[in-house]
Amino acid sequence: MTLTRITAGKNEISLSPKLNLLTLSFEETAVFLEGLGWKKYRAGQVLSWIYKQFAADFDAMTDLSKADRHLLSEKAVLSHLKVVTHQKSSDGTEKFLFELDDGKQIETVLIRSEKKRRTLCISSQAGCTLDCNFCLTAQEGLKRNLRVDEIINQFLSVQAVLPEEEPITNVVLMGMGEPLANLKAVTAACERMISPVGLNLASRRVTVSTAGLVPQIKTLLSGPVAVNLSISLNATTDEVRNRIMPKVNRLYPIKTLLAACREIPLPPRRTMTFEYVMLGGINDTLEDAARLVRLVKGIPCKINLIPFNAYPGALYEASPAPQILKFQDLLHRHHLRTTIRKSKGRDILAACGQLNSAFEK
Ligand code: SAH
Repeated sequence: MTLTRITAGKNEISLSPKLNLLTLSFEETAVFLEGLGWKKYRAGQVLSWIYKQFAADFDAMTDLSKADRHLLSEKAVLSHLKVVTHQKSSDGTEKFLFELDDGKQIETVLIRSEKKRRTLCISSQAGCTLDCNFCLTAQEGLKRNLRVDEIINQFLSVQAVLPEEEPITNVVLMGMGEPLANLKAVTAACERMISPVGLNLASRRVTVSTAGLVPQIKTLLSGPVAVNLSISLNATTDEVRNRIMPKVNRLYPIKTLLAACREIPLPPRRTMTFEYVMLGGINDTLEDAARLVRLVKGIPCKINLIPFNAYPGALYEASPAPQILKFQDLLHRHHLRTTIRKSKGRDILAACGQLNSAFEK
């Protein structure tokens, strides 16, 4: 890595003449600081201020001399996401609408659960590549992929406004967008989340959720970032899946997707999750449940049933609660670990599939 490449990177990604430190990997940060004539260990100091103490700017980095802080602020910046709105649901869920530097908007959701868990649901794209027609984000189309600093900054921005005793404990890439359609930035962001130098989350506490981009699933999980994988299966026949998730299922039909899931080497005791949105009268019959049992046979997994979250203009309805329970019961009888997702933040349109920045306006 040479300084020239950093300069090239800067021109590509930033309108400001200063280097945005959050676009750099840890190694690149060290190279940049060495280029300022700093000793090697200082990179650790700066990275710790960014990733462990959530410093908003260089002025907060009080173990650097004033002169060094000044030098740093002449050469570099720490980018921020602009908070457009910050809503709180009656159940403790919080939704942030952020504006990116080109004016595009994304949403990030903080979900509090029992057992002191605070899960941050992060976006990977502004809008989405895919066209799943039960999902509100899909209606926006793809605006653009997020850069690594924009993905990481969702975490840093939310953590910075939480009290110190309320650390974010889990991250799910289940916000706006298809994470695996933005594989490079998502992989780099996951690396920073699980690195001890970075956010230092256990890899099992970081989950990438995908509608099923098969080659990218293989690339992600054969690399060094062994995060949790969640697959949005959502149907048990190609006929239904083509209807509700046309783009992805035409590329990678159910059989191809599940064959890939069988091949993936999982870390010991790790399971993958299949998400299954329950759409009334579409995919929620007991025949579906029986097919689901057969489809996932032999894959170490659990099933997460998600009652459909409605929104104005939705094409579908939620399955009635008794039907969801019957569906779950059949899965249980076949020894499949199955949970029903408690949807949080529905009153502020912060639940699964309800994220769409345009809806705010
Ligand atoms: N593109 C990724 C991540 C974003 S969607 C993926 O498909 O996994 C996150 C989850 O929300 C997916 O399981 C999706 O099927 C589900 N979802 C989308 N819209 C929904 C809605 N209106 N109600 C309930 N779940 C929904």
